[in-house]
Amino acid sequence: MSAENPTAVGERPLAEAAASLSVRGLEKRYGPTRALAGLDLEVEAGTICALLGPSGCGKTTALRAIAGMERPDAGEVSVGGRSLSGPGAFVAPEKRRIGMVFQDYALFPHLDVKGNVAYGLGRRPDPRRVAEVLELVGLGMVADRPVHQLSGGQQQRVALARALAPTPELVLLDEPFSNLDAILRERLRDEIRGILAGAGVTALFVTHDQQEALSLAERVAVMRDGRIVQAGTPEEVYTRPASRWMAEFLGEVEVLPGEATGGRVECELGSLRVEKGHSGPVSVLIRPESLAIGTTGPASGQEAEIVGRHFYGHDQMIRLRLRSGRELRSRRLGFPAWHPGDRVKVWVDGPVDVLDGD
Ligand code: ATP
Repeated sequence: MSAENPTAVGERPLAEAAASLSVRGLEKRYGPTRALAGLDLEVEAGTICALLGPSGCGKTTALRAIAGMERPDAGEVSVGGRSLSGPGAFVAPEKRRIGMVFQDYALFPHLDVKGNVAYGLGRRPDPRRVAEVLELVGLGMVADRPVHQLSGGQQQRVALARALAPTPELVLLDEPFSNLDAILRERLRDEIRGILAGAGVTALFVTHDQQEALSLAERVAVMRDGRIVQAGTPEEVYTRPASRWMAEFLGEVEVLPGEATGGRVECELGSLRVEKGHSGPVSVLIRPESLAIGTTGPASGQEAEIVGRHFYGHDQMIRLRLRSGRELRSRRLGFPAWHPGDRVKVWVDGPVDVLDGD
């Protein structure tokens, strides 16, 4: 069986006991640093969730506290309804039924691939189980190879196989792709998503890479200063950010002042349809991909001049100046090529979000 079709091995699903994760009010201080400041996080059984946040926001501390490698100062962690850490309770890491995959793989260089996977299975590892998980991650053919002969992507799959071998209830992955080059990273991302989803295992992975979180996870929990600021599906957090910080953290965004009433907002780009329920002064959030340009355009289009362009191959980011002098960015496919000095029309062609207040 290949990694592309990793549903079940024989009759046995890989994770027999995918469980939900519940984290409530987790606190952790290191001297004056408040690494976790009341972290709340719920992950449903069988879901792949990304814990996304800027450097230093507490992601690794959160993962280590969930795994039991770090003792929180306050708060609770439970998996499948079983309290692992909380008032009067602290289950040792090896008794938590949690698998860990680290950024640097943390494999044993003196063991071969199957030896590394067997390591997770205690003193008398079942060779059939080792073979099963290696098949599942698509490495059955290299079971006898020393791990140092494998590529980075293969080594990370060995690490995942080792974490999955004891049928954990939850798998935690700490920046699992950060040591890989861009092409391998994307391929391994797909493979690992296939393995985790096919196995039905609950997974929480830490990343500071927005695209990685949005493309790999079913749920994204965004963390800032030791707590979750928003959680939802990738589409929800991207298209309906809860704050300007969230909008800017997840990608490029233009913010225009507007006046909302009855499901519409008036702003410099005209009258736009938005979610009902907003009224008065608002900030209008427009992603560059929602701004269309053309030499002709709808009547609502505003006149603009192109003042800059970055070409990325598959797409281009075009900088525009409106008559008012306001500059905006429009993301278009890589063709046709636009040039500074071109006069165009610009109009909104995509989702727009508003935040109350200006
Ligand atoms: P990165 O993406 O850069 O790895 P992160 O979001 O994983 O960051 P953490 O590593 O959890 O963040 O760190 C959160 C804060 O706690 C940081 O200010 C960090 O310096 C601090 N910190 C983490 N571990 C320790 C420690 N063992 N001793 C002292 N301070 C620590």
